Amino acid sequence: MRFLPIFLDLRSGPVALVGGGDLVRAKLRLLLAAGARIRWYATDGDNVVTGIDAADAESIEHGEGDPLSADLSGVIAVLCAGAGDLGAAMSARAKALGLPVNVMDDLAHSTFIFPAIVDRGDVVVAIGTGGASPVVARRIRERIEAVLPARIGDLARFIGGFRKSIHGRIAEFPLRRRFWERIVDGPIGALVLAGRSDEAEAALNNIADPSGFAGAQAGRAEGRVTLVGAGPGDPDLLTVKALRALQDADIIFYDELVSHDVLDRARRDAARVPVGRRVGKPGIGQEAINQLLIKAAKTGQRVVRLKGGDPFIFGRGGEEIEALRDAGIAYSVIPGITAGLGAAAESEVPLTFRGEALRITFLTAHKAKDAEAVDWSALTDEKMTVVVYMGMTAAPAIRAGLLAAGRSPQTPVGVFARATRPDSQAVTGALEQLPDLVDAIDGGPAILIIGDVVAHSAAWRQANLDSMLSSFQVAAE
Ligand code: SAH
Repeated sequence: MRFLPIFLDLRSGPVALVGGGDLVRAKLRLLLAAGARIRWYATDGDNVVTGIDAADAESIEHGEGDPLSADLSGVIAVLCAGAGDLGAAMSARAKALGLPVNVMDDLAHSTFIFPAIVDRGDVVVAIGTGGASPVVARRIRERIEAVLPARIGDLARFIGGFRKSIHGRIAEFPLRRRFWERIVDGPIGALVLAGRSDEAEAALNNIADPSGFAGAQAGRAEGRVTLVGAGPGDPDLLTVKALRALQDADIIFYDELVSHDVLDRARRDAARVPVGRRVGKPGIGQEAINQLLIKAAKTGQRVVRLKGGDPFIFGRGGEEIEALRDAGIAYSVIPGITAGLGAAAESEVPLTFRGEALRITFLTAHKAKDAEAVDWSALTDEKMTVVVYMGMTAAPAIRAGLLAAGRSPQTPVGVFARATRPDSQAVTGALEQLPDLVDAIDGGPAILIIGDVVAHSAAWRQANLDSMLSSFQVAAE
């Protein structure tokens, strides 16, 4: 490691900024955003910056005279544009004064470099590549941005506010650390991250015996359950929150529909328990699943209940949180992309479209008798798109119901199987052919979409593919 990351206290003095031009102005903005005071030697005589507010303008002091001979006492670091001989000379001057110096784009004359920064208030992450590649640093930053909760800085500040009083009440360091671990990892930390700091504060104030709380056996720790929508299959369709929950889990109860690619994104040492129906075997039943969730949470584990698509769309999510609530277990719900939306996006079916589709109905019809129970007369509006889950077996009954209710046999329909997965498959046709279209598919799960907008799918996809391919050709030439 050539450059050790340390954090500079910006309140201890101004940073000297030397030079002009866009690069220097970009650094000026970065320093202002960080809250620095700046003494700026605009060596080209142009010290105008646009687009900053009055308070920021007050943080800029305009340096007089030649920075190579100016009085730099009190300055905490020097930052200089690299152009010409100025960088080398300024670097020598700063070194002679014992000041850290960065010459832009000039590693040889720099004694410090700027990292890429993730800024969450009190939580700051610095990423360095030893000056080798700012682009790599930025890509890493994007990844860290994605996994760090937005309010992690609030959590740090929250704890900072209680540190002194807890220090006074728990003398032993290991116990104190355990206390904070339980706060950060437990419901109080979760409340802060959910933007409910007031409730978190009340809960923390309510802990009458902090030492006892910290020393409690793991078995008595508060577990919690997170219902997580796994999306339709493509792991890149997981939400940032879902990914975080998977990375955080002690144990994951997952459905048959959850793809292996999604499970691969979970923390490696999380236990994985399949609870879905397997082909040819019945599932363990909803009541048994509820009990498993409750039991796992009661042993203090961070439990993830991972469900295909969205937990609240034909996913029994409602039943599960009802059981958790009755058992007094803390829970939260993270939405997922439901299969109907995944299939529509992949196959370019605009579920609503001006003039053509003004409403959407999501329904399920697993068996013929489910389809018979549907009031199809409510679904005859030509400007309504109907999205059917679990509808493969009942396809003949769905066709019969819609036709009997008066929807046109020519209504465009599509069958979208294994949507967003590598082996996805789509066939489109007319309502009168629906059962044949289902037969043409090599197995489910599949979504049926019925409505005029389905007619766009094939044509748009082909046009999109053609233009993508032709742009590759242009790039290759
Ligand atoms: N909660 C899930 C739905 C569960 S019901 C969600 O929001 O998506 C199960 C049904 O979802 C399947 O029968 C099928 O109709 C549909 N389904 C799930 N994953 C799918 C996929 N990748 N492609 C097409 N349909 C899918």
